[in-house]
Amino acid sequence: MCGIFGISGHPEAAAMTHLGLYSLQHRGQESAGIVSTNRAGEVHGIRAMGLVSDQFSPERMLELSGPVALGHTRYSTAGSSTIENAQPAMVRFKGGHIVLAHNGNLTNAPEIRGELEDEGSIFSSTMDSEVIVHRLAKSKALRPEEKLAEALEGVEGAYSLLVMIGTTLVAARDPYGWRPLVMGTINGAVVFASETCALDITGATVVREIQPGEIVAVEPDGTSRTLQRKAASNLHRCVFEYVYFARPDSKVFGGSVDRARRALGRQLAKEHPAPGADFVFSVPDSSNSAALGFSEESGMPLELALIRNHYVGRTFIQPTQSGRDAKVKVKYNAVREILEGKSVVMVDDSIVRGTTTRGLVALVRAAGAREVHMRVSSPPITGPCYYGIDTPDKEQLIAANNSVAEIARKIGVDTLGYISLDGMLQSVPNGPDGFCHACFSGQYPTKPPTAPEKLRLG
Ligand code: AMP
Repeated sequence: MCGIFGISGHPEAAAMTHLGLYSLQHRGQESAGIVSTNRAGEVHGIRAMGLVSDQFSPERMLELSGPVALGHTRYSTAGSSTIENAQPAMVRFKGGHIVLAHNGNLTNAPEIRGELEDEGSIFSSTMDSEVIVHRLAKSKALRPEEKLAEALEGVEGAYSLLVMIGTTLVAARDPYGWRPLVMGTINGAVVFASETCALDITGATVVREIQPGEIVAVEPDGTSRTLQRKAASNLHRCVFEYVYFARPDSKVFGGSVDRARRALGRQLAKEHPAPGADFVFSVPDSSNSAALGFSEESGMPLELALIRNHYVGRTFIQPTQSGRDAKVKVKYNAVREILEGKSVVMVDDSIVRGTTTRGLVALVRAAGAREVHMRVSSPPITGPCYYGIDTPDKEQLIAANNSVAEIARKIGVDTLGYISLDGMLQSVPNGPDGFCHACFSGQYPTKPPTAPEKLRLG
């Protein structure tokens, strides 16, 4: 999954992008990049493995001048975790430069790549997004937004895109609206970001969401053009953005993430109360709001029984299992003074492999909890995501291979309750229709990719 940010018409475009990326760090921690263009169309970029806070020193930022910039934070769902795959992707072609930042997964990228390679294209990365760059370079269309529309023809799957073609900044969302993308403004400059929290940090005001199927082109003088491709009649917005991925201080798909998570927590308490428990606590930070909702609905006090080390990133961002295992204890500790002798409700937003959860339950028991009742604010994850969330193959998904009772036993809890699919869809803003819930329901809105393993080339 990734975070994208772009700005046009601002004298300090790169510095604004740098700020924006800080607020999109949760969307990807493997690599970060910023590319800027000056009025002469000269492009400068910095891409590096690691965190935003480590990569862009004031000296390096001086290299990035001009009124247009775009940035990206990445963790790999397609392509391996290497510097060649860091974005924004940047190429020079006979028409100038193309710079691209992508959030999502293109489900037919392997086929398109094969076609392009048959025609002689040479790829410099294993990223799915590179196929769009090649198609852009080949397009004969005149305007940047028309080039992008042409390049996206027949491209399937999820994409929110920011592209710089010359000095034009172009934003696009796939016709199903899988991934969020919002537009804002600051002092006449136009800003695009995955989430509104990245506009807040720059002082920009939210204007609106980019519509599914829409392409917006912006010039550095502030003029903009819109091209509406055929939008799908049924949207596939990713419900997991509300459940886990986005920040609670953001609005995505026009709805508040905090409100969504609280409603999920309330619904969870209705569906799976835990009468007799002493208190509820969250697995920080992503389930804080859901635990609050559970507490509000059940009347049970909310405690801070797990403490998270904020200097450690999201566990899944470690691409290997051994890295993930070691990280559980590095990332969390339990507060004995709160837990000792108590019957407790532990709320988390999701269980994927079960590795972290099992480790957490062990921590909570070791700190003296008498009974552990786990409540999960999303349904069991039974299938992989092909559209940009880093859920693993079916074999590794605990709920794909075990009943709820078996999962409870494996993770070591006394009781386990997951919110229902309907309960989740009724709880999120602008629901219940128009969401992709394939990882929970198995209802994949597109045919599954012919070569799913190639979506994870690394
Ligand atoms: P596990 O018990 O190993 O399945 O891990 C569950 C934890 O992973 C929960 O606390 C979730 O908030 C978190 N989580 C869920 N999906 C993802 C993801 N795609 N990337 C990183 N962490 C995730």
